[in-house]
Amino acid sequence: MSQLVVLGRRLWIAPEDPHLLPCVAATVRGPRCQNPVEYGQIMTVLEVQLGEAGYVNAYVAFGPDRAVAPRWLAQHCTVHDTPDAVDTDPTELRPFRLDT
Ligand SMILES: [Zn+2]
Repeated sequence: MSQLVVLGRRLWIAPEDPHLLPCVAATVRGPRCQNPVEYGQIMTVLEVQLGEAGYVNAYVAFGPDRAVAPRWLAQHCTVHDTPDAVDTDPTELRPFRLDT
């Protein structure tokens, strides 16, 4: 079931619990990396206000959002958090919009 995630001070839709998102980068041997974006639970579910639309539950990362958001949005594990990483698959987080 899709889940909402706050990253980069914006709301995103993940296909499942974001802790289960796999890295999309290619390994040096070619196939897709098998690491999760992050080991362990670095997010908690909080109630987030959507202006006048009401409230939703969303995953929110502990600590400074700007420290983790770029890597999560790129869907790279800590090994592949490099500018030269090549992706084998598209990333899975989609922007949340109230009208969709
Ligand atoms: Zn990786």
